[in-house]
Parts: sequence; C-alpha cells; structure tokens
Amino acid sequence: MLGVVESFSLKGKVAIVTGVSRGLGQAMAIGLAEAGADIVGVSRSIEQQEQTRKSVESLGRKYLGIGLDLRKLDEVGTIVDAAVRKFGTVDILINNAGIIRRAPAVEYSEKDWDEVMDVNLKSVFLLSQRFARYLIENQKKGKIINIASMLSFQGGIYTTAYTVSKHGILGLTRVLANELARYNINVNAIAPGYMVTDNTEALRKDEKRYNEILSRIPMGRWGLPEDLKGAVVFLASEASDYVTGSVIAVDGGWLSR
Ligand code: NAP
Repeated sequence: MLGVVESFSLKGKVAIVTGVSRGLGQAMAIGLAEAGADIVGVSRSIEQQEQTRKSVESLGRKYLGIGLDLRKLDEVGTIVDAAVRKFGTVDILINNAGIIRRAPAVEYSEKDWDEVMDVNLKSVFLLSQRFARYLIENQKKGKIINIASMLSFQGGIYTTAYTVSKHGILGLTRVLANELARYNINVNAIAPGYMVTDNTEALRKDEKRYNEILSRIPMGRWGLPEDLKGAVVFLASEASDYVTGSVIAVDGGWLSR
C-alpha cells in the first residue's frame, strides 16, 4: 500500500486531455504533468497548443499534440490509438473540451444545439467508450474525469444546449461509473464554478452580470484555471481509487449558497 502522498503521484501515467489549448484544459494538463504524467493534448489545431506543450515539457514530461475537431465524431476514437502508439499505454482521460452558445431558447438554432451537443456530450461518450474498450481489452485500470458545470445543477439563462449537455455529463458520469466499476475504471466529474477563461468572457464583460455573480460566490472571487489542479490530480490518481460516480464542485461555495 502506498503512503498517502505517494498515492497522489502520476509518475509513469499517460493522460489524454481534450481542450488543452487554453483555459481549464491547459491548467489541468500542467497540473497532471506536475504530478508526473505525460500528456496527450487535443484541440482543433496543434499550433494553438504551443504554450501548453512548452509548459509540460519544461516539467520534464513528454507531450503529444493532436489537432482534431471533436465534432468529427467518427475520428474521435483515433485519439486513443495515437496515444497508445506514442506512449505504449494510456491511463487517464480528461473530457474537458466544451463550447457555449448563448441565445434565448425561443431563438436557439438547431445548428448551435447540434454543435454544442456534439462537442460537449456526444464526443465525450464516444471517446470514453473507445478508452474504456482499450482498458478492458488490455486488463488495465483507468480513470475518466468529465468536466461538468454549475449548469449541470441549475438552469442558467440563454444557454439551452449547454445546460442540457452539462446535465447529460452527470448522467453519463453515473451510468459509466456503474458499468465500468467492475473493470477498475473510475468515472467522476469536476464541476467548476465561474472561472476566468474565454468561455466566460461575455459574462465578465457585462459588468452587471459579473458583479451579480461575484456577490453570490461565498469565497468572494471568480475561480482561476489553476484552482482545478488539486481536484484533477486527486481524481486521476490512486488516492481516489474508491471514488466513482462522484462530482467534485470547485466553485468557491457557489452551490452551497
Ligand atoms: P475555453 O477557454 O473556451 O477552452 C475550450 C477548449 O476546448 C479549448 O482548448 C478549445 O480549443 C477546445 N475546443 C473547443 N471546441 C473544440 C472542438 N470542436 N474540438 C476540439 N477542441 C475544442 O473554455 P474553458 O472555460 O477552459 O472550458 C473548459 C471546460 O470547462 C468546458 O467543458 C466548459 O464547459 C467547462 N466549464 C467552464 C467554466 C468556466 O467558468 N470557464 C465553468 C464550468 C465548466 P480550440 O478552440 O483551440 O480548438
């Protein structure tokens, strides 16, 4: 049995992180690398991953960049193949890539609905399925971590497809946790609160909304991408081997309010 500090180590592990070019995905990839993992980063273009690659490599970890639009659903499985080709194994999957499209529900277009659902939910299912098949076929244990949202619990406004996709992420986390537990595959979610990234730029530019949100956060500040490092390393490591089907809110207390 490992000591508790060692049980958080990711030395020798390989982690796929989607949406790695900036924001929460970039910070989580760096956090996982700080804990010892090599990183397979996914976003639409490899060029946008330069900063992430440099940060990971400066920690002495290896980095494989993959440029893939996750809306190409029939290509999503190739991420697992590429990771195994490069590193010989893959242990951790962080389903982080996500988009938001804002419009009143009565005006919400079918195109926006489909794109949000494809990136935020359907690609997550297909990539998780492919990853789980790889682990089962090779009799390996593994960790799947999905990025949920406050809108996995609340309705939000002008966010129809986003809210539905993030509610779906919790359902997917739970059903996969149930089915995959017998294979020693843990499936959990992190629900970030209101974080300073491109995803919330429109909200932060609206001074009234920014301050309304700020005043409701018990910790009195918006979250930073680095705030997710602790939760993601915990859920990716042996320290969480008996945790599955759970959601960790990293929200400065928002949900308790
Ligand atoms: P962000 O700064 O906008 O970053 C989104 C990431 O996803 C980028 O790396 C982007 O890469 C990638 N991505 C977007 N569309 C893609 C596609 N079709 N194919 C491949 N990659 C794609 O957003 P973020 O705030 O870090 O959000 C990350 C996750 O956290 C999302 O699931 C979001 O819903 C969730 N979240 C965010 C907050 C928040 O307050 N920020 C709160 C709760 C949950 P490219 O554009 O370079 O391809």
